[in-house]
Amino acid sequence: MQTSPSSAQSKHRALIIGGSLAGLFTGNMLRSIGWNVDIYERSRHDLDSRGGGIVLQPDVVEVFRRSVASLAGGELGVASRYRTVLRPDGTVQSKQFAPQVQTSWSLIYTTLKQAFGEAHYHCGKVLARVEQNAGARTVTAFFDDGSSETGDLLIGADGGNSTVRAQIWPQEQPSYAGYLAWRGLVPEDEMPPVARETLRGDFGFANNRGSHILGYLVPGLDNDLRPGHRLYNWVWYRVASDDEIAGIMTDRDGRQRGYAIPEGLLARKWIAHLGREARALLPPAFREIVEATAEPFAQAIRDLASDNMVAGRVIILGDAAAIPRPHTAASTSKAAANALALAEELERSPDDIEAALARWEPAQVRYGKFLKRQGVETGEYLLFHRVHALSQA
Ligand SMILES: Cc1cc2nc3c(=O)[nH]c(=O)nc-3n(C[C@H](O)[C@H](O)[C@H](O)COP(=O)(O)OP(=O)(O)OC[C@H]3O[C@@H](n4cnc5c(N)ncnc54)[C@H](O)[C@@H]3O)c2cc1C
Repeated sequence: MQTSPSSAQSKHRALIIGGSLAGLFTGNMLRSIGWNVDIYERSRHDLDSRGGGIVLQPDVVEVFRRSVASLAGGELGVASRYRTVLRPDGTVQSKQFAPQVQTSWSLIYTTLKQAFGEAHYHCGKVLARVEQNAGARTVTAFFDDGSSETGDLLIGADGGNSTVRAQIWPQEQPSYAGYLAWRGLVPEDEMPPVARETLRGDFGFANNRGSHILGYLVPGLDNDLRPGHRLYNWVWYRVASDDEIAGIMTDRDGRQRGYAIPEGLLARKWIAHLGREARALLPPAFREIVEATAEPFAQAIRDLASDNMVAGRVIILGDAAAIPRPHTAASTSKAAANALALAEELERSPDDIEAALARWEPAQVRYGKFLKRQGVETGEYLLFHRVHALSQA
């Protein structure tokens, strides 16, 4: 169902580059305050659901509440009750009551996309460059098919390798953190016996040298929340050198994929490698779950927290501006928080976009840096057993 644009006479137009979560949070929020919004996404088709689990955070729920009318009263994820830490031999190191809700990338994406609708979501549009017209206070996006669009505000929601950021702040680049996340999804009804007995229903963890794994249940295919139809989502952090990362990110067809390799494309030799590592490092429940995963995928951990998010009528948000490490469970909620704050500031001074952006930027930059520090501190401790000085983060 499409949210109702609040006014036909809306005078402002936003061009959003990138139609993943940050683009859709922002598109729905700006529309809810009466802006005309167009989203330009480079992919030619719907983004696929290679994604796994996401801890559901309040900012995401808040965007849904304000802009996704169809969701009223709907359930957004799978609840877990305990946080259970296992030793390498499988015995329980700790079990703490800590209820929370886990959802999936796909549930958030499909819900936001349905709310935004198709009419102003343009697929197969690859931004090449942006140009500002300071006098007219407009900005123009030029696409690689030769077309262009002009609006009052251009929002770079184009992810960690943002074209918008590269053009305006080329010095701001993500850096590799020295480890990666192996990831996987196993249908709940195919969980092997020890995994089913030990892990189902809780948020599970296990640590070893240079190894930190966690897992939980998430919605299943077509956002199915019924017991037995959900997916077990696991994320296994492992230290990897630059050379190892280059090897892992070379897909089954020999193509170099940079920093993420989707489900179905990981080279077979790495699936065998994962099985060997699981037998050496993981407690039985997690070992079983890794071995039961048909198509593991992987993502290198990178750090970014841009000093700038606004230049005239161009802004960046979501991963384009800051990539917190996943231990913070915050990259999706940060994108939502960026969008909520932007809509609030634009609504506060609808006829003074510059003033709204000047109020918006400092807190968003600070938030990105705070999450970077938090993620670095946690990751360095978990993977390298280093207590990291906050000033170095
Ligand atoms: C398919 C997919 C699956 C994911 N799964 C998970 C998950 O399971 N768990 C998790 O925590 N995070 C996942 N993420 C990442 C998560 O979406 C982000 O970390 C976070 O939500 C912020 O997203 P973002 O929209 O800023 O960046 P991204 O999700 O990276 O989106 C950026 C978008 O911009 C588009 N784009 C890039 N360059 C251009 C250009 N020049 N012109 C037009 N469009 C462009 C990309 O195609 C992409 O759709 C996934 C991302 C994708 C794309």
